[in-house]
Amino acid sequence: MPHALHEFDLIERYFRPLAKGFPGALDLRDDAALVRPPPGMQCVITTDMLQEGVHFFGHEKASHIAQKTLRVNLSDLAGKGAVPHCYFLSLGFDETVDEAWIADFAAGLVEDQAQYGIALAGGDTTRCKGMLSLSITAIGLVEEGKMLTRCGAKAGDMLYISGTVGDAALGLALLKGEFAGMPEQLREMAIERYYLPQPRTQLAASLHGATGGMDISDGIFQDTGHMLSASGVGAEVLLDAIPLSEAMRWIKRNEPARWLALLGGGDDYEILRSAPSLDNRHLTRIGRIVKGSGLHVLDSMGKPVTAPEGYRHGLGRVVGP
Ligand code: ADP
Ligand code: MG
Repeated sequence: MPHALHEFDLIERYFRPLAKGFPGALDLRDDAALVRPPPGMQCVITTDMLQEGVHFFGHEKASHIAQKTLRVNLSDLAGKGAVPHCYFLSLGFDETVDEAWIADFAAGLVEDQAQYGIALAGGDTTRCKGMLSLSITAIGLVEEGKMLTRCGAKAGDMLYISGTVGDAALGLALLKGEFAGMPEQLREMAIERYYLPQPRTQLAASLHGATGGMDISDGIFQDTGHMLSASGVGAEVLLDAIPLSEAMRWIKRNEPARWLALLGGGDDYEILRSAPSLDNRHLTRIGRIVKGSGLHVLDSMGKPVTAPEGYRHGLGRVVGP
């Protein structure tokens, strides 16, 4: 453990309060937690690991790093149509991390636990060399048999996306010093979306009738492609139907050559749904599922557009310039 702060003190002072809302955490005084889904429900379990220098710079506020790690997991749950239940936190850090950092880290989690209705159930803490490493495993609940999978899309379904697309990739580009001419207010919004994803927890819990679903952490085109291949179908997506923030509309007007790559960039954490029909003001219909295979992105004239790949698995994303 880093100087002065012993692992047990740290757990008692900062993590035990986070487990108060979850009886199965056993107050973090045991070796394991107990999780029992309510009758008729199933546990949906997902893990995401974030590494300093790859998924975040390291100089961000500790509370934001904590929240981002929790939120990317909550986004996976939202993608599956699951309601947050509890989470496990594994934390590795070196001696440059002091108590004030941990306090801020925990404060970020307190805030998000209240916002998203989830509590800490356990975890592990270890010293590691050089880099901060964080992993959260989140457990959500769905009605038995109702988890939305990637393989449920059917020809004839419509394809929907929540929120707006491309903002986080734009935020990262701005942090790297690009697009200096963009108005300040638009910059701030995009950067905020990069630092702090907004998992569509509430929306996901209120949507019924979808055949397939996932979140689009690796970029809309790549992740839609994953859903299509898992479902054994194709899709036509209208480029102009993809919902844009004001910041991405600014890029489309002023940096048209860069726009498409940003649109397909990662870290959006919006939810993708296939369904015969969904009517919700937070969802936009972007296309339809067709027989065959592959994603066909069409421009306003109906001509095919080559979609960028987004993030490739195995390579991860590198935040540094
Ligand atoms: P072990 O020796 O079995 O690894 P620990 O001493 O690491 O057990 O953990 C003691 C308790 O504290 C356990 O309930 C564990 O879940 C909890 N815990 C340890 N680290 C964390 C953490 N980073 N977040 C939440 N709970 C933690
Ligand atoms: Mg341990």
